[in-house]
Amino acid sequence: MPRQKKELVINWHITEVCNYHCQYCFAKWDIHAAREEICRNQESTETLLEELSTFFSPDNPENTLLRSFKWDNLRLNIAGGEPMLHDKHLYRVIDQAAALGMKVSIITNGSYLDHTSISQIAHHLSWLGVSIDSSLATSNRIIGRSNAKGLQLNVGKLPELFALARSINPDLQIKINTVVNAANHTENFQKLLETLSPDKWKVFKVLPVINRNLEISDHDYQAFVHRHSAFTQIMYSENNDEMRESYIMVDPKGRLFQNSNTNQESNYQYSQPIHEIGAEKAFSQITFQSEKFESRYRAEQKPIYQSLGST
Ligand code: SF4
Repeated sequence: MPRQKKELVINWHITEVCNYHCQYCFAKWDIHAAREEICRNQESTETLLEELSTFFSPDNPENTLLRSFKWDNLRLNIAGGEPMLHDKHLYRVIDQAAALGMKVSIITNGSYLDHTSISQIAHHLSWLGVSIDSSLATSNRIIGRSNAKGLQLNVGKLPELFALARSINPDLQIKINTVVNAANHTENFQKLLETLSPDKWKVFKVLPVINRNLEISDHDYQAFVHRHSAFTQIMYSENNDEMRESYIMVDPKGRLFQNSNTNQESNYQYSQPIHEIGAEKAFSQITFQSEKFESRYRAEQKPIYQSLGST
């Protein structure tokens, strides 16, 4: 059996702005940051992406990460906030990253997915990720997964849009992200997963970074995971400890950041902006636990049930 290619994933949160207001959302940066989002600037974006693609190239011997593990491809995962609020900037960022040879994925709350947006982004994406915490209106209301008018994601539109995306790009894979929290931990996602047929279902325990709203116990989280054991082939679960200091994350200002100490409020650690000081220096300014990254990677290499079927 051929060896599966390893990917190094960089999550760029291009914006803090979102049309939803999930209680647990950790995508909260300085209120003035929206004006400083560098995705709005073509040149800064170009510099940032060039720095990332050069420093995190699998062939760069200067990257200390290579002492821990090796990778074959570099993937830029575009996140938010809600990245699709920036449709034109987003389309350009995707094109710029693809032109530099990076694989590209996106994680969205799905509210702006339609025929037009899918047609703009599907051809360059290797993964389309959609965050869905519940198919129940009451749970979504409690969590805050609705816009200012109270409108929630219409999950019923997704199968057709996923089919369109796959018809444009047969290599594209679909991922669903679910944050398990006090409002949804007793639910059963079987029907939803059978309807959407994702290639991957990533399940997270709600992470108390900004506040402790909707927090749940380990016992309740494990009960949720256990209840969905029929989906083991596509489910990838992460508890809080596994999430700390193990993602490569870039904020809207182009700074690397880490959630180093999740027991306190507002506890991010930042580098200086990558497009100003370079990726190597920025990477030396943050803590990164490469062993956790690698163990997550190993966990994600389990066989995937390919016929089932958006980080
Ligand atoms: S949809 Fe995502 S980015 Fe928006 S508020 Fe919810 S968790 Fe935060």
